[in-house]
Amino acid sequence: MPLNLIIVGPPGSGKGTLCENISRDFHVMHLSGGELLREEVAKKTPLGSEAFEYMKQGKLIPDETMVKLMLNKATEPAALQHGVLLDGFPRTLKQAQAITAAGLRVDAVIVLDVSDASLLERSAGRRVDPVTGEVYHLKFKPPPSQIVDRLVIRPDDTEEKQRFRMKIYKDQRDPLIVHFKDLVLTVNADQPIPKVYAEFLFLLKQRGLGEPTAPKGKL
Ligand code: AMP
Repeated sequence: MPLNLIIVGPPGSGKGTLCENISRDFHVMHLSGGELLREEVAKKTPLGSEAFEYMKQGKLIPDETMVKLMLNKATEPAALQHGVLLDGFPRTLKQAQAITAAGLRVDAVIVLDVSDASLLERSAGRRVDPVTGEVYHLKFKPPPSQIVDRLVIRPDDTEEKQRFRMKIYKDQRDPLIVHFKDLVLTVNADQPIPKVYAEFLFLLKQRGLGEPTAPKGKL
């Protein structure tokens, strides 16, 4: 049976890398809410134009629109055949309830647990190369010495903004944990990515949800 997963984690939790590993090794379809919205915006669809106004202001897209977009994708033949990894969706209780109401089977909700101190350290050390767009971290992913001088700090990597993002994240996460209760698998994301992935695999197996099949690559 295809695996349907939801992944929940704060910005800076390593969620992106983990999603890449999961979609590669389990051959499930990675559906990122933010990515799908950005595609709609780029294609200038009516949904994209509507979404752009909200995204520009950092506001959530209305639940009904978001649910329609995500459930349409999650019920496409390839998604039904291979399973899905929902990332950045659901973000509200209404969205979570809509998933349940639509009868989409959810096997596990992966919650990446990271301490506030780690998140602050990760955002404080982040530097971006304006030439290549590559993201470095002074401690965890040190940049080559010849480009250090040209690296910049993202304007939203201040401690105040990071604390604000952390609060918004927790406000969104908590109702999801309540809604999906028994399906929640909490992974300690306060460790290097390979260990986070190993813990995820362990918990999944412990739940009887299987292991990666022969590597088939990303869908
Ligand atoms: P992200 O790439 O996940 O940070 O999402 C970028 C933006 O897309 C967010 O700031 C929201 O405006 C919108 N968005 C993404 N996912 C959702 C969602 N599940 N519900 C509502 N809006 C969303």
